[in-house]
Amino acid sequence: MSYYCPVCNGLETAEWSCPLCGKTAEDFGRFNDYLGPYSPYRPIEDLSLTNGFADVANHCCVHVFHCEHCSHSFYAFLPERPAGT
Ligand SMILES: [Zn+2]
Ligand SMILES: [Zn+2]
Repeated sequence: MSYYCPVCNGLETAEWSCPLCGKTAEDFGRFNDYLGPYSPYRPIEDLSLTNGFADVANHCCVHVFHCEHCSHSFYAFLPERPAGT
């Protein structure tokens, strides 16, 4: 069974509270996409397995969030959905 991230697919908008100030942080996109420019020779699948989060195994999509209120950047694990449900 395959899983997809509803946020990456445009079905939902991610809203996450900043752990430092509690205000709504902005979604900067997938962690793997964020890594992209710095790892041009590695395929997405490889990054998913080796970025330290094991997001593929846990069916989570790791997103990077940035809080413009206090300039804090952090990661959030967004639950992926099984395809076809
Ligand atoms: Zn995602
Ligand atoms: Zn903040």
